[in-house]
Amino acid sequence: MEPPDIERLDERTIQRIAAGEVVERPASVVKELVENSLDAGASRVAVSVEAGGTEGIRVRDDGVGIPEDQLEAAVAEHATSKIADIDDLEAGVGTLGFRGEALYTVGAVSRLTVRSRPPGAEAGAEITVEGGDIGEVRPAGCPTGTTVEVEDLFYNTPARKKFLKRVTTEFDHVNTVVTGYALANPDAAVSLEHDGRETFATEGNGDLRSAVLAVYGREVAESMVPVDWEPAAGADEGLPANRVTGLVSHPETTRSARDYLATYVNERYVTAGALREAVLEAYGGQLAPDRYPFAVLFVEIPPDEVDVNVHPRKLEVRFDREAGVRAAVESAVEEALLDHGLIRSTAPRG
Ligand code: ADP
Ligand code: MG
Repeated sequence: MEPPDIERLDERTIQRIAAGEVVERPASVVKELVENSLDAGASRVAVSVEAGGTEGIRVRDDGVGIPEDQLEAAVAEHATSKIADIDDLEAGVGTLGFRGEALYTVGAVSRLTVRSRPPGAEAGAEITVEGGDIGEVRPAGCPTGTTVEVEDLFYNTPARKKFLKRVTTEFDHVNTVVTGYALANPDAAVSLEHDGRETFATEGNGDLRSAVLAVYGREVAESMVPVDWEPAAGADEGLPANRVTGLVSHPETTRSARDYLATYVNERYVTAGALREAVLEAYGGQLAPDRYPFAVLFVEIPPDEVDVNVHPRKLEVRFDREAGVRAAVESAVEEALLDHGLIRSTAPRG
């Protein structure tokens, strides 16, 4: 058999393959758009989705906006306002995004409209991208801030579209993501709407418990106790966590899914099995079988001990000393529960 020729794929094919790999589902789009709104300093972020996001996604914010002459750059490949070069990256980024590829990628696999009016600008403008084709910038009436609309996600990548789950499953993922950001940013009024019905809306008054109330309801909010832990001077020198803060629920305020354990590392929303297990461990035997508590936990770790960029679109993190981080989180939660008499001491503490 003759060896086949090796040929470079055309740009459009490369773009779609790459997009299909990183934009997994509606929730991945929502994550990117909400991060952009928060990076833009928004104090209101309103998310609204249709059919779990499979038919439409809209994120509206009151942030700094995008000037008309920058709209095209905003949807272009590798274009960002957040870093200029690798030195900026090495110095550490204070924003959630920096790769400059989210809008470009989403535009490759949907019909994307970005409409914006920076505060002070007389009028707004919009740009539309359809399956990677960037349209003209047009004038558009809109409030100050930015609105991004995504319709017909994966219309041009049928294989990916086929992998979408039921509407309720896709919406659960969207809900988890928006909830995660709402709890991490109690200063911002974050709301979520599904098929025209409001799922939740936080007040944006800076109070974590008030955000929990909006998201999980009164029973949960009232059952939660504060966590505020720092390693004892000298004693816990080996623990690679500087501080653990947040709220955890009464051991009897539980659900049958683990979805209510929201964890953050250095203010980034992450899914880390190790952190969840540490929380559960802290409850000891106090949880009924297959029941999981609510937790909103912020873990501060020296930046050189954690890699939050394992995958650009995933929420995974890698710890240098995972066992130490686990021990810190477990101590923090255990201490909070003990202090409020919600669990009984099993070992002498010192
Ligand atoms: P990144 O966030 O990595 O910079 P994106 O593709 O998500 O890349 O966005 C590209 C650029 O578009 C951002 O750097 C920012 O300047 C601008 N932008 C995107 N969304 C918003 C928004 N909601 N408000 C203001 N500017 C935005
Ligand atoms: Mg971004």
